Amino acid sequence: MRAVDLIQKKRNGGQLTTEEIQWLIGGYVKGTVPDYQMSAFAMATYFKGMTMAETRDLTMAMVASGDQLDLSAIPGIKVDKHSTGGVGDKVTLLLAPLVASFGVPVAKMSGKGLGHTGGTLDKLESIKGYQIEVAEAAFIKQVQDIGIAVIGQSEQMVKADKLLYALRDVTATVDTMPLIASSVMSKKIAAGSDAIMLDVTVGDGAFMKTVEEAEKLSRTMVDLGKEVGRQTIAVMTNMSQPLGQAIGNRLEV
Ligand code: URA
Repeated sequence: MRAVDLIQKKRNGGQLTTEEIQWLIGGYVKGTVPDYQMSAFAMATYFKGMTMAETRDLTMAMVASGDQLDLSAIPGIKVDKHSTGGVGDKVTLLLAPLVASFGVPVAKMSGKGLGHTGGTLDKLESIKGYQIEVAEAAFIKQVQDIGIAVIGQSEQMVKADKLLYALRDVTATVDTMPLIASSVMSKKIAAGSDAIMLDVTVGDGAFMKTVEEAEKLSRTMVDLGKEVGRQTIAVMTNMSQPLGQAIGNRLEV
């Protein structure tokens, strides 16, 4: 296979096969598909979109690009949440401990900001001494002991998303629905929780500008989660103005 043929196929509105998507993502992580070809592929996807089957294949190829977490040692239904991003979005900092206080184990890995949106990890890093890099065993033990852990995503998980996330950020391909759906869901699937709550932001400050787009993204991600046996729900929330009173990682914390 050649990356140029797959880029051309997508550019012309074609549908990639499972093997083609696996080859592309595998090659990108190995370094045999360079950034410039992946950028072109991301831009072709921005314009031509992906079918549900392609989005599922992309998601699973991304999951397979790194380690997957096994949370079975933690009793109960482990929950995770993810926001598609916004301005002043500090919901995790409030919601995760609240949920844990009801006895529901929260095992959450957070990410960095993307485009103009802030990331929970950046906010946590602004707390002096906060450990964002925690070994898997210690992460699991903390959830067993106190019912909650919010840490940074492990370097070994979803390697394809780490690379693609950074590439999209500098190639104007962040707001591409199948790329958002696969980015979010690959991380959530690899992180091993039983139930996933998706906060799909919509409005001026979000990647999805209209309720119709947000609905489509929500359905895609919920279907992806259900297909792999994870209880998944999405709520659409208003991102037409910054959340809360303060903007800036330290201030928001
Ligand atoms: N959040 C993610 O994790 N990925 C995206 O692509 C957008 C928001």
